[in-house]
Amino acid sequence: MTATGRHFLQIPGPTNTPLAVLAAMAKPTIDHRGPEFQKLAMDVLTRIRPVFGTKNPVIIYPASGTGAWEAALVNVLSPGDKVVMVETGWFATLWNKMASKFGIQTEFIATDWRAGAEAAAIEARLSEDKGHTIKAVCVVHNETSTGCVSDIAAVRAAMDRAGHPALLMVDTISSLASIEYKHDAWGVDVTVAGSQKGLMLPPGLSFNAVSDKAIAAAKANTFPRSFWDWQEMIAINEKGFFPYTPATNMLQGLKVALDMLEEEGLDAVFARHNRAAEATRRAVRHWGFETVCKKPSDYSSSLTAVMLPEGHSADALRKTILERSNMSLGNGLGKLADKVFRIGHLGDFHDLMVTGTLSGVEMGLAAAGIPHNAGGVEVAMRYLNGNH
Ligand SMILES: *Cc1c(COP(=O)(O)O)cnc(C)c1O
Repeated sequence: MTATGRHFLQIPGPTNTPLAVLAAMAKPTIDHRGPEFQKLAMDVLTRIRPVFGTKNPVIIYPASGTGAWEAALVNVLSPGDKVVMVETGWFATLWNKMASKFGIQTEFIATDWRAGAEAAAIEARLSEDKGHTIKAVCVVHNETSTGCVSDIAAVRAAMDRAGHPALLMVDTISSLASIEYKHDAWGVDVTVAGSQKGLMLPPGLSFNAVSDKAIAAAKANTFPRSFWDWQEMIAINEKGFFPYTPATNMLQGLKVALDMLEEEGLDAVFARHNRAAEATRRAVRHWGFETVCKKPSDYSSSLTAVMLPEGHSADALRKTILERSNMSLGNGLGKLADKVFRIGHLGDFHDLMVTGTLSGVEMGLAAAGIPHNAGGVEVAMRYLNGNH
């Protein structure tokens, strides 16, 4: 079938890029050492800080989120260092694998992939570490493979209760600018983020927000790194430039994305995501399916991962929906492959895109012959209309 109409990109990142952002990126490429760029860089480097909830520098790399993961590790850790990570799902697993490749000793606290990180488990592990050999705790804020959020303020409180000096590093790649997050107030040392999810940009930029303690750790750290080195970046950024060619057109897009977030207001952005997520969960429940996330306090507002009944292929359903409705949904990752599909509701969207997405899923369920209660879209519409 020839695809007509607008493609519905409802995966949990990359997300739909607003036309205003695309238009800004289509402007002619500028001199990255000229005054026009300097003005742009100063502007985005300043205005990105409140999005992370920080007054400290935010480092911007021309890289996908995976690059910013690596930057976080190599700036403050060294081979042989011990870190505690929490296996919230597939993305936590990948970050853990990366750390292992650098010779970092990781302790991976297991979960069933159906809730966020448990602060109590982190506290227990740190309390045992009387000699303070653990250098960092790494947590994924919004685990994109499961749709479960970890309570970062609770993790920080647990670390404080244990009286442990480990750094706290958090992956917010699929939560930043979608789900409330406070780098400074929650005492996070390194926050990792990417451009292609809540920030509404295409893939290609990634970020490290850094605490004073993290900057001090990076200064003392002798682990070899060059491209990812914070110190050179921070020093040159202060003048509005970069140590190597930055992704100039992406930064032009970022400026407009920041305008949009400021205009709507971050609290309104978070509320819009919460509403879309609740509408989606109500539809899913009505259809008769479970969400992967079992703990209501940990439900993600940027995506919902849906479990299909035993014996039905989530990948076949996604294929049906792509062919019939020109809509992309996220696949199940790792041990959830083919059992789960993921509905992205983050970035640039409004109510009609949410109900349109749910319509595509409901029509797909019928077409694929997967037993479900029809009318989930109706339930979502009632919720969005405020009469439920
Ligand atoms: C998307 C994502 C990543 C990977 O980012 P890339 O940009 O694909 O390198 C890592 N962690 C989380 C939580 C993600 O959602």
